[in-house]
Amino acid sequence: MPIDLNKVRNIGIAAHIDAGKTTTTERILFYTGASHKMGEVDEGTTITDFDAQEQQRGITIYSAAVSCPWKGHTVNLIDTPGHVDFTAEVERSLRVLDGAVAVFDAKEGVEAQSETVWRQADKYHVPRLCFVNKMDKAGADFDASVKSMEQRLHAHPLPIQFPIGAENSFEGIVDLLEMHAYYYDESQLGAKFEVREIPEHLRAEAETRRATLVERICELDEKLTEKFVSEEPISRDELKAALRKGTIANRIQPVLCGSALKHIGVQLMLNAVCEFLPSPLEVPPVVGRDVDGKKEIKVPTDPKAPFVGLVFKIVAERPVDLYFVRIYSGQLKPNSRVLNVVTGEKENVTRVLRIYAKRREPLDVAEAGDIVAVIGLKSALTGHTLCMTNHPVVLESIEFPETVISQSIEPVSSRDRDKLTDALAALGRQDPTFRFRMDEETGQTLIMGMGELHLEVLTRRITDDMNVAVRIGKPRVSYREAVSVAAEGVGRFIRELGGKPHHAVVRLRLEPARGDDESGGFHSRLAPDRLSKQFLQAVRTGVDDAALSGPQLGYPMIRWRAELIDAEQHETDSTEVAFENAARLAFNQAAEAASPVLMEPVMAVEIRTPDEYFGAINADLSARRAIITDTDVRGGNRIIVVEAPLAEMFGYTTQLRSLSQGRATASMEPLHYAPLPKTIADKMLASLA
Ligand code: GDP
Repeated sequence: MPIDLNKVRNIGIAAHIDAGKTTTTERILFYTGASHKMGEVDEGTTITDFDAQEQQRGITIYSAAVSCPWKGHTVNLIDTPGHVDFTAEVERSLRVLDGAVAVFDAKEGVEAQSETVWRQADKYHVPRLCFVNKMDKAGADFDASVKSMEQRLHAHPLPIQFPIGAENSFEGIVDLLEMHAYYYDESQLGAKFEVREIPEHLRAEAETRRATLVERICELDEKLTEKFVSEEPISRDELKAALRKGTIANRIQPVLCGSALKHIGVQLMLNAVCEFLPSPLEVPPVVGRDVDGKKEIKVPTDPKAPFVGLVFKIVAERPVDLYFVRIYSGQLKPNSRVLNVVTGEKENVTRVLRIYAKRREPLDVAEAGDIVAVIGLKSALTGHTLCMTNHPVVLESIEFPETVISQSIEPVSSRDRDKLTDALAALGRQDPTFRFRMDEETGQTLIMGMGELHLEVLTRRITDDMNVAVRIGKPRVSYREAVSVAAEGVGRFIRELGGKPHHAVVRLRLEPARGDDESGGFHSRLAPDRLSKQFLQAVRTGVDDAALSGPQLGYPMIRWRAELIDAEQHETDSTEVAFENAARLAFNQAAEAASPVLMEPVMAVEIRTPDEYFGAINADLSARRAIITDTDVRGGNRIIVVEAPLAEMFGYTTQLRSLSQGRATASMEPLHYAPLPKTIADKMLASLA
């Protein structure tokens, strides 16, 4: 029997690192019965942190999806990583969520990285609840946290609870919709709590807060506004229904509070997830495209429609990998065949599983709106669309940023060579922001990623988890090249090869692409009958190939737009090979003429430090060509947000530690590519000349 979709909640927990996401997840798994032994993050034994290495670092890098039964609902919890080095992973998870719980640290309120995650959630229109965690911590301030959501996130937070006590004396929660007080028993790990009347000394406060709540809920709904104005009674159910609607429409975010560590408030948060966040049936259906990308195709959340699903996560396992799939339309059954639209290959689905924290349930069928794991796929990658063979649909693929750093990697012994190849392939499948390739000139294998830490984590997985002994080279910046003005180029390829004539002439105009919109890449300005389809395709192939190696140092080119403005096709002698080569020549000529520049990756860096090291850190940053874009004081720490070229930031974490006696921390991720300052570019070119 498929599950009732009205009772499914696909949610993620989004938080700034250290806000308590792992602890909260852990409590959810415990209360939903998925786990019987509560893990503690500080002891490194939690369930969602599958990797030994993750536990070590205390950050969740790899997201996994776990199903949690709660009060007749199935909450599919998709773990979103909380470290700034990995926002691509966060973004990827947000794509498949219907709702999210944003966890905040009650002492810190909104932190810089919560802003990034919040904006990403806005981008995908993900309805949210806010959970103000760590109410037990010294300095915890519920109202200040709510205010910071308004000020820093421009959010519309609406408290539906308030804490009883704070810091050491935090002992429970007043629920403003039910008008009850909840008291928790720490000795029972919070599994037990008592519902009591609101204590006398909090009654007035509860009334005032409830009045605000009711008024703001009524603003969300015309009928309730009328009732409110004419002072008619409004029932609890009416309030909840309006709040639900407002939350799903993203007009308001209900705010709850608690302490995951002290086991307070997590069950009420789960109730709120079921009550206020949408089921898959309540979110707008996604829109796909046909294989050519031209026509839009509706993908209704309907089990009777043809199957469409998205692979959003691959977890390497022996003997076979687990593919996590969000089903958008139709049904998925074991022992079925699906089409991977992206590769064009047909693949077998041998088993469909629901993954609980500690057990797996084989399913006979899974339906639109659900999230399941699939076994049997072979060539699918994260972001690929699966569908029925006779109903091809492509869902918008997930965009992954360019890699900015590379390192050579080689096996210590030749025995490890094959193992390394397998390990790299496995990592590449699981983490789409990681790439590897053979450098043809040097014969070296290069691994590429989002930053030093990213590659460090991955190489440690290769050595520790996959037991491959490797030698690693120094990290290198992945430069790019771009053109700065428009220029034209002509390529002629008229010659005999192996006794066969070849003839093609191609004229291209190359210019910088506008912003990062769709203007980039290859476009033809020719009338459709000027050049046959296969020759046009050959020109495209030649152009794309030429763009892989820029005119200055052979780095891949970015932000270019090439237009085919003229082409000469010979009656008998034209060939695809000729057009491909002519296009390549034309592109290279245009690129030389278009004032090419070297581009370097710039990182967004967030540093947190006790005040006394601020000066030293600042001085060091300015020597690294860093630009400070924001500073702030939070929780007694200085927060410095900077943009800095990756080339200047190698080994920064170590340097930061020594500047601050180990007390400052930093996180960074790629921001964009910017032209390398001319003096530095000239030096680089001269040293290689
Ligand atoms: P994550 O980085 O967001 O996953 O955060 P963790 O769950 O790993 O928590 C970070 C630290 O905060 C750990 O030392 C936790 O024990 C602690 N922590 C988590 N929740 C609470 C809480 O409710 N109160 C207090 N005082 N500490 C907490």
